Amino acid sequence: MTATLEVTALSKRFAIGRPAVDGVSFAVPRGEIVVLLGPSGCGKTTTLRCVAGLEHPTGGEISISGKLVSSPARGVLVPPRARDLGMVFQSYAVWPHMTVRQNVSYPLKHRKIARNEASHRVDEVLELVGLTEYADRPVVALSGGQMQRVALARSLVYRPQLLLLDEPLSNLDAKLRLRLRDDLRVILKQTGMTALYVTHDQAEAVVLGDRIGVMRDGRLLQIGTPHAIYNRPVDLFVANFTGATNELAGTLVECNGAFGVVDFGDGRRGEAALLQPLGPGDKVRVALRPENIAIGRQDGSNAFTAKVIDRRYQGTQTVYDIELFGNRLEALELGTAARHPVGVEAPVSLSREACWAYRDTGPSSYE
Ligand code: ATP
Repeated sequence: MTATLEVTALSKRFAIGRPAVDGVSFAVPRGEIVVLLGPSGCGKTTTLRCVAGLEHPTGGEISISGKLVSSPARGVLVPPRARDLGMVFQSYAVWPHMTVRQNVSYPLKHRKIARNEASHRVDEVLELVGLTEYADRPVVALSGGQMQRVALARSLVYRPQLLLLDEPLSNLDAKLRLRLRDDLRVILKQTGMTALYVTHDQAEAVVLGDRIGVMRDGRLLQIGTPHAIYNRPVDLFVANFTGATNELAGTLVECNGAFGVVDFGDGRRGEAALLQPLGPGDKVRVALRPENIAIGRQDGSNAFTAKVIDRRYQGTQTVYDIELFGNRLEALELGTAARHPVGVEAPVSLSREACWAYRDTGPSSYE
């Protein structure tokens, strides 16, 4: 089956600077939500704007439901209004002089939809976004979260084949943001909408995405399920960006299939998963999530002793700074009891599946 969105070798170069998008390829199958995740300036908005037709790509191709909408090489550039897309942006973009219902029914006016059918669809979509009781309110008398629901309803009401969302939650306060984030996934799944969503917030990406594409410097480094991105990051940047903030430098001394033995200096050795092609003698950096350091346990192939340097009790969890092989690492202990005082030597266990070895290409490789 043809994917709803196919992006092939997309590139976009502005008049100045390096390419904003540099050979990006991915597909979004029908009904799937793909999230483009990356730090500011990595090219995710430019990618989305190329799909929308708001930006003219320099190279590559974009097809929507099997129809080529952009190909500089073949002289194809379909204008935005002919791409049958819905768009929701950071700014609420609602008509301030209209009511909620008027805002939501507006797109149907230009689509020759019978009045009865239009009214039915507006009711349906207002119900979906939880705004039925606000239907006749002026849109300016709504909260930010409610306004963004109006913007979403307005994009869903004409049932576009693809919905594009660019950081739609970033103007909301923290609490609303979490609520709308969870609701958004439910709403999108209920409608079966195919969506491309852009954010720099990894928590948002994980909750919303069926698949996540991690971008950096205009390139798509990895695209996969949230589980794959979190448990098998392809490189140190993806590992770091998704929260594996600890690193241990060492030398790979032995390879046994998917795992290898790393020497961390002074003969201290541990096992790590090899997520890149590596061989004995290679300098590596082993990335580790704070939540994957089991403090207080000493089992498995990576059982060591670490010194507790600092701890921050957070009620439902405790964050420890520990010293291991001369490195300062962060470890997370779940539960309401902080069991290890500052200054003690504590046993730690690092499961080899959660220690990921990558080629050490110097600090610039992940900053
Ligand atoms: P953010 O989260 O900050 O919006 P982003 O990942 O969406 O970042 P883009 O907005 O796609 O990044 O920008 C990618 C790169 O392209 C950046 O280096 C940016 O400075 C550059 N860029 C974007 N728009 C233009 C433009 N109109 N002219 C020149 N350079 C641009």
